[in-house]
Amino acid sequence: MKSKKNVSKPMQTGGLMMSTEEYKGMARSAKEAIEQVVFANRILANEDVLDAFGHVSLRNPENSNTYFQSRSLSPQFVTRQDVLEIDLDGNVVTKTDKKPYGERIIHGAVLKARPDINAVFHGHPLPVIPFTVTNVPIRPIAHFGGMFYEGIPFYDDYDVSSGMLIATREEGDRVARALGSSRALLMRGHGCVVVGDSIQSMVMAAIRLRDNAQVQLWAMQIGQPKFLSYEEGRQARKIALESAVALGRAWEYWVARAKKAMPDIG
Ligand SMILES: [Zn+2]
Repeated sequence: MKSKKNVSKPMQTGGLMMSTEEYKGMARSAKEAIEQVVFANRILANEDVLDAFGHVSLRNPENSNTYFQSRSLSPQFVTRQDVLEIDLDGNVVTKTDKKPYGERIIHGAVLKARPDINAVFHGHPLPVIPFTVTNVPIRPIAHFGGMFYEGIPFYDDYDVSSGMLIATREEGDRVARALGSSRALLMRGHGCVVVGDSIQSMVMAAIRLRDNAQVQLWAMQIGQPKFLSYEEGRQARKIALESAVALGRAWEYWVARAKKAMPDIG
């Protein structure tokens, strides 16, 4: 795999001078990346996208062949001390006896297959599950779901002996292949994978996938929804994921809510 580093120069003063990487909040050091992993866990727990299960990861900006992820723990309890460094084959690099998540395999496989991606979410948000067990696809139904305009692929090739958990490198590779170049993947009767180039865009996409699924379920109960067109979705994605206003404002909002609900974050 080719080496990929996202280390960028410190932020210039004056918001208008910020580069794309800056306003996406790209982690510039391992320390920043660990901090972002803590916030992503707390935010996604606080927004009910993760519950006792599910996890996030962020590639190490100082070594593209490792990533940061919490030890096996409910996301709402994650602190800096719980974050482990793990290589793309799932080996824990941090000298510790703390136990990693079993399904960390998904994260390494996706980060290995997608050098364009630095952050990965895997979880089981309830409004998404009905779309994993029917032939009804999730389609962009509100502007915030536009980022899924290219469609969401599907995974249904489980090793039954693993209890529908992704626990082997072979199955991790199959999940990564099913994801392909997409932003998200649905997994039958299980949940989803969502990716981003930064932790902010991954958090945004994970929350918006759940929100779009919920709105779609509501709309389908009262009538025939009018979905976004391909072009509407494509344009809405640009605003949601490429503008400082959307990503920065959303991150600030979610961090503030998480801090209020969980004052121990600091
Ligand atoms: Zn899972």
